[in-house]
Amino acid sequence: MSSALETLRRDFGGDIIEPGDAEYEAVGRSKLAAGSPAHVLRPRTAGDVQAAVRFAAGSGLTLSVRGGGHSFAGFGTNDGGVVIDLSRLASIEVLDDERHLVRIGGGATWGEVAAALTPHGLAISSGDTKSVGVGGLTLSGGIGWKARKYGLALDSVVAAEVVTADGEVVAASADENPELFWAIRGGGGNLGVVTAFEFVAHPTTEVFFGKITFPQAEAVEVLQGWADHLRTAPEELTSIANLANPLAGGPAAPVEIHVAFDGDDPELAARALDPIRRLGTVLDDDVAPHAYADILVEGGSPPPGIEVLAHDGFVDRESVPEVLQILAEVGTSPGSPSIAVRSVGGAVSRVPADATAYARRGAELMVATVAGGPAAVVEAARAHLDAIWEKLDPHINGAYANFLTAATEEDVAAVYPAATYERLAAVKRQFDPSNLFAHNHNVRPE
Ligand SMILES: Cc1cc2nc3c(=O)[nH]c(=O)nc-3n(C[C@H](O)[C@H](O)[C@H](O)COP(=O)(O)OP(=O)(O)OC[C@H]3O[C@@H](n4cnc5c(N)ncnc54)[C@H](O)[C@@H]3O)c2cc1C
Repeated sequence: MSSALETLRRDFGGDIIEPGDAEYEAVGRSKLAAGSPAHVLRPRTAGDVQAAVRFAAGSGLTLSVRGGGHSFAGFGTNDGGVVIDLSRLASIEVLDDERHLVRIGGGATWGEVAAALTPHGLAISSGDTKSVGVGGLTLSGGIGWKARKYGLALDSVVAAEVVTADGEVVAASADENPELFWAIRGGGGNLGVVTAFEFVAHPTTEVFFGKITFPQAEAVEVLQGWADHLRTAPEELTSIANLANPLAGGPAAPVEIHVAFDGDDPELAARALDPIRRLGTVLDDDVAPHAYADILVEGGSPPPGIEVLAHDGFVDRESVPEVLQILAEVGTSPGSPSIAVRSVGGAVSRVPADATAYARRGAELMVATVAGGPAAVVEAARAHLDAIWEKLDPHINGAYANFLTAATEEDVAAVYPAATYERLAAVKRQFDPSNLFAHNHNVRPE
């Protein structure tokens, strides 16, 4: 046994899972990617994370840090390297009921958070899926059902505990290491392992939630009317328009307008939602009050052998009509990927672009396409997907890291405007000069 491994076994109190171990099959892969790491390290404490980071740094092996394991790019696993799997660092503690201050382990999932906060009448603007990790979603943004009212998940973060590349535990907040605090809010996993986040949660009631569907022949009018309405609708309304839902007929599927109205007053909800109902011929409308924790869906993991290709882009106001026109055509034509158009704006866009490392604050919409299937099917679909994005590209302004399967230099440049990238690189030079944390949309320290 190498001396680095001996030191790890001495200092690390969590699980060490290696090829041949009973659990290896389950923990080697992440939710969307196969992998065959040499060591999966599952820490129980920040001290274990320190030992794991020191081991990885000393080994020279590729390092993947896994929160909830949902990265489309497969960042949560690798072949032959080290995976630090944070799933046992998942405690959720309300620190201060009056200030709504909540401390959450870096490996918790949003379903666990929503369930733990419901008895306190609290929630955090996050995402739409229970099994998605607090870590990955928050560090790159977090666009969920309360986005227009409360902003991104990362906008509610007030402090974090970070294990940096040298194995030290560092505090990040407005008062302590403020540049690191700026950088982790948008810089993804580039800066270190976040062992705990502190969020200010929001009081929540039941929310009006559901979907209103329209015939696909009305796609253009419905989408344009939907986007117009969101400009003046109350910020309690956050919405996603879906086209070509593969579970509802793909390109033959109706246009689905999913809505979340953050409040339990039926009159206010109706005032925000009725203009959507008037956009076309309503086929179905199941909007009803639900507990916030219940509107998050289960995630699930595609069976081995199924690949997923995701791509996304932000749309500024002036490009909305062109983009929706293109999407309405694409989404109702054969071979369409599944398309989701998320409303942002509202509280997301009130935060200055340089206040966090998530800089694409001006967008009104975020478009994501997802195609999946056996490798050969996905490969065959690639040219069609590329053609769709070529058509969209002149109207797109940057990308959201969290729905990208690819992580090329072009993708990184789409995620980070030049000024953000340079500032991140400076923080990277300070906290990770040798680029240990590279398995992400990588900001290089040089
Ligand atoms: C089914 C599904 C639904 C989704 N819904 C939404 C949604 O509603 N809104 C939205 O904004 N996004 C959504 N996403 C995208 C999601 O935000 C990203 O996939 C995100 O990367 C997942 O985070 P994770 O921790 O689960 O993934 P992981 O694969 O574990 O991590 C992703 C990246 O973050 C890093 N990381 C994770 N945790 C930590 C940590 N504690 N410290 C340091 N680095 C860390 C990893 O190293 C990796 O680079 C969804 C994805 C899926 C698959």
